[in-house]
Amino acid sequence: MLKSSRFLITAFISLNVSAQNTSYQGFSYPDNASNAISITFDDARHSQVDNGLSLLNKYKVKATFYVSPFNVEERVSKWQKAVKDGHEIANHTNKHLCTGNFEWLRQQGLSLEQASLEDIEKDIIDSQQYIKQTLGVDAKAFAYPCGNTFVGRGANTKSYVPLIAKHFDTGRTWLDETANNPNFTDFSQLTSLRIDGLTFAEIKTMIEQHRTNNSWIILAGHEIGKGGQYTTDINALEELINYLQKPDAGYWLETVSEVSSYIKEHRKDIH
Ligand SMILES: [Zn+2]
Repeated sequence: MLKSSRFLITAFISLNVSAQNTSYQGFSYPDNASNAISITFDDARHSQVDNGLSLLNKYKVKATFYVSPFNVEERVSKWQKAVKDGHEIANHTNKHLCTGNFEWLRQQGLSLEQASLEDIEKDIIDSQQYIKQTLGVDAKAFAYPCGNTFVGRGANTKSYVPLIAKHFDTGRTWLDETANNPNFTDFSQLTSLRIDGLTFAEIKTMIEQHRTNNSWIILAGHEIGKGGQYTTDINALEELINYLQKPDAGYWLETVSEVSSYIKEHRKDIH
């Protein structure tokens, strides 16, 4: 009994010490903003350049686009314009491997359960080369298709997060429940919050709920237009931009790589 009480006391003390060490330390962004926020879109869906670019450019907002080459190929000149306009182009692979529970992927043999780390790395490098050749960009950021970070199954599952850490400054997941703590977040598994299918009021409520601890909030969508589970409503997006750009809103709105570089330079690491 004595031994176990000693253990409990020691455990309590060490928990307390680690709680002190990891207690929240503030973080300052440019222009005294209390939060950083990034607007991102995945897959290079056509509506992003057909509908979204002119809206973003109207308000001089720089977004991060995680592109898949097979979609870029059908709108090359528009994506080249997006680069000229100063938007960030990032890598989302070409094969877009996700869990084979998506039947349409599994039937093509394009599931992560059936893939190896070599398969995924080749897809990443091929896409990187395409982006360089077609758009003249060395992509620094990556978004995991479907937010899945593994290959294989069961006891043979492997994470491909280390591959992303090797090739990119940042990797972003999808459908998360938290924003990023600037002093703690792993740049290879940045979280994101879904904006598809939401009204401006719903997006506003969501981001306000996640702005504690000087968080970096990354928003993620797919189509830009009207209606649909995978569509960011274009009017909601405009209202959101107006809201974020109000000087007293306290948000620093920038691309993923701009924010990550700033945080890497200024963070006080906590573990
Ligand atoms: Zn995707």
